[in-house]
Amino acid sequence: MGFCINCGNQHQDGVRFCRFCGTSQPSEQLLARLRAEAEQIRLLSMQMQQRNNQQNDAYARLEAMRQQAEAAARLNNQQNQNYRPPGW
Ligand SMILES: [Zn+2]
Repeated sequence: MGFCINCGNQHQDGVRFCRFCGTSQPSEQLLARLRAEAEQIRLLSMQMQQRNNQQNDAYARLEAMRQQAEAAARLNNQQNQNYRPPGW
């Protein structure tokens, strides 16, 4: 059973025209190609999603490193300000 691409009514597989509205229906070959394309798109979007996640991870690590460096720099600054040469 397939569905008309125009009116959505159910019709027999392999009919060339919808018996409700007369719209010509895509052939099985075309449907198979469209299904294959849809599968390709699904796989691609899954890969893109994974790549996005990896990029987000890398960004989070960079951000953590930046914050650590900032904290270290602040600490360093404070130590320099508190530092007095001996015998001062
Ligand atoms: Zn129809």
